[in-house]
Amino acid sequence: MTRSITLLGATGSIGASTLDLVRRNPDDWNVEALSANCSAKELAALAREFGAKVAVVGDESCLDELKDALAGSGIEAAGGSEALCEAAARPVDMTVAAIVGCAGLAPTMAAVRRGGTVALANKEALVSAGDVMMSAVAQNGATLLPTDSEHNAIFQCLAGGKIEDVARITLTASGGPLRTWSREAIDAATPEQAVAHPNWSMGAKISVDSATMMNKGLEYIEAFHLFPVGLDRLRIVVHPQSVIHSMVEYRDRSTLAQLGPSDMRVPIASCLAWPERMETPLEPLDLSSIGELTFHAPDEARFPATRIAREAIEAGGGAPAVLNAANEIAVEAFLAGQIGFSRITAVAETTLASYSAAAPASLEDVLALDAEARIRARDALENTALV
Ligand code: NDP
Ligand code: MG
Repeated sequence: MTRSITLLGATGSIGASTLDLVRRNPDDWNVEALSANCSAKELAALAREFGAKVAVVGDESCLDELKDALAGSGIEAAGGSEALCEAAARPVDMTVAAIVGCAGLAPTMAAVRRGGTVALANKEALVSAGDVMMSAVAQNGATLLPTDSEHNAIFQCLAGGKIEDVARITLTASGGPLRTWSREAIDAATPEQAVAHPNWSMGAKISVDSATMMNKGLEYIEAFHLFPVGLDRLRIVVHPQSVIHSMVEYRDRSTLAQLGPSDMRVPIASCLAWPERMETPLEPLDLSSIGELTFHAPDEARFPATRIAREAIEAGGGAPAVLNAANEIAVEAFLAGQIGFSRITAVAETTLASYSAAAPASLEDVLALDAEARIRARDALENTALV
């Protein structure tokens, strides 16, 4: 049966993995909308290849380039944040939300409000909106399928189980490229070193988040919203091989884990085919060649981000949205060479401490809070740049 699909963030890393699976199963999918921010030529090429009905650039200043690149194709071109939300609201069987950052929140909410099935990779959207997104999912009868590998693993381990029977959920973390580095070496890490992830190939922002461990902090908050077991039942363990993608322990002390290659096509396939299964082009998992799986506790002295994220979700209210916005600004500044590596979490923590924001009650509240936190984070950047 052919199903329709919209892919938000088609030109990114998750976008490429998703389209690889779609390309291998062309009879299963009709592509409705594809989006990018400003990679107009790449987007137009994908829209042509997959016969999309509409292609949208989030940045309106790139619309002319998109129109030129789509000339004669019959594919509709659109641009700007409104257009992105309109495209996301078009009825489809599956929306893959893979824009990076809080920029993906409004379009993801548009798909949720339509009551659609949404494969959510865009963790920042859920971290920022939290209850606002989860209530919209419930109110509109939407289905949220976790695509982040850890959350997809947990989702799979919960299948057939009852959430009341869960004693503990353990998120695994690879530890990132700086896992074994000294504090001094971490302070001096360059963007090239920070994005060189040992196990996963990903976009620049999430790669830096993996190096600071803020990715795991954001995932902790993401897990809190997706799986209502309470914070005291959520744990993080470092597992450098990235073979076990997360685990669920039930109250009888039986632990279920999901294992697989470190390739996002596995969790994406699990979402695309859900509740069925589909083929992926990956090699079978060869445990004897992997040999050993190891685990250790996170070192929050060298990598404070998981502590900061835990404090943000414990504080509740608008704190997670503030943390996320500040982290986005700080990562951008680090990638632009404006601040050193350790300032990323320092800026996030300073911004978080600078005010206590009330819990946002609507999408508009979240976006306003995000905008305000960005201004405060930029202040913190200037005030902490020399420290
Ligand atoms: P990339 O940076 O590779 O891709 C981001 C995509 O979003 C691109 O299509 C980009 O378009 C688009 N985009 C960027 N900014 C905007 C904006 N302001 N408005 C509209 N579109 C925008 O990111 P990833 O694919 O790595 O990550 C996407 C999301 O998935 C993130 O939230 C990440 O945390 C999550 N995720 C990613 C994993 C991975 O393995 N990559 C694993 C688990 C989760 P353009 O090309 O024009 O810039
Ligand atoms: Mg993950």
